[in-house]
Amino acid sequence: MRNVVIIGSGPAGLTAAIYAARANFQPLVIRGLEAGGQLTLTTLVENYPGFPQGVQGPELIELMHRQAAAFGAEFREGHVTRADLSHRPFGVEVEKERIETRALIIASGASAKLLGLEAERKLLGHGVSTCATCDGYFFRGREVVVVGGGDTAAEDALFLTRYASQVNVIHRRDQLRASKILQERLFRNEKIKFVWNAVVVDILDPDKGEVIGVKLRNTKTAEETVKPCDGVFVGIGHSPNTELFRGQLEMNEVGYLKTYDGSKTSVPGVFAAGDVQDPVYRQAITAAGSGCMAAMDAERFLEAAH
Ligand code: NAP
Repeated sequence: MRNVVIIGSGPAGLTAAIYAARANFQPLVIRGLEAGGQLTLTTLVENYPGFPQGVQGPELIELMHRQAAAFGAEFREGHVTRADLSHRPFGVEVEKERIETRALIIASGASAKLLGLEAERKLLGHGVSTCATCDGYFFRGREVVVVGGGDTAAEDALFLTRYASQVNVIHRRDQLRASKILQERLFRNEKIKFVWNAVVVDILDPDKGEVIGVKLRNTKTAEETVKPCDGVFVGIGHSPNTELFRGQLEMNEVGYLKTYDGSKTSVPGVFAAGDVQDPVYRQAITAAGSGCMAAMDAERFLEAAH
């Protein structure tokens, strides 16, 4: 029987682990499918306080991991395949092993949706990015494309105009889904151009290890063209990793966990931290902060239940 199980090993899960371990609860962190979370998909992180020279995303995660382990947090590879939150102790299944816990912290994050192209996978972190705030800076004076027509793509495109010489928004229809106010800002910005009715069918060139262009297909005419560019930002949205909790925890209409009064979910003893409950800020530092909150809330819950 565990006191605290933490699902997820990004900044939210690892910060929760540091706090819960220092409170002597010997938390177990289940690292998950994308161990380390989205920071492991990026390179230099320049906006995490305490690192004036910046820090590599994977290194930041490694440092947090070591810090949690030093205080006695335990780690388990693998991902949770089932969660039973109907009664306490809660049950989580990690590849057929059932683990019981008095309190549960869910920090399973959100995954950026990808286009599903092989070249995209190969060039992720080498010119292909799912995070404009993280990687925009590297495209100073360069030409980039942003794929998508929603608020994420619109915000990414606007953010990227700070650095890029030109930002091409590639959208599969001829109308944006983004909110009107963002649309107006996009249309007013001289650095932003649009390619309508187009889908990215390939990214060039994985053999060179860098982005030199995208192959586009017109959705109306099926004509294929190549648009030269130096970077590709995939902004087609994120999905919170909450499938396991459907029907067990309250969620908003797109699946983000609802939290109340700090990190509490709709089930007492279950807490949520990081991107899994945050469709708005989605930063490493806010995730870490909410991980701290979840650990403190779990600690109070366990003390009250004792
Ligand atoms: P979204 O609203 O679902 O938009 C996704 C966009 O990507 C759509 O334009 C969609 O095209 C396109 N898309 C999806 N899959 C694609 C694919 N495989 N290939 C090409 N294009 C694809 O997602 P989001 O922009 O991340 O927004 C999610 C939620 O967060 C929304 O409620 C949004 O309002 C909110 N949000 C708000 C803000 C803000 O208020 N500042 C910022 C970010 C997000 P179609 O239009 O054709 O479907």
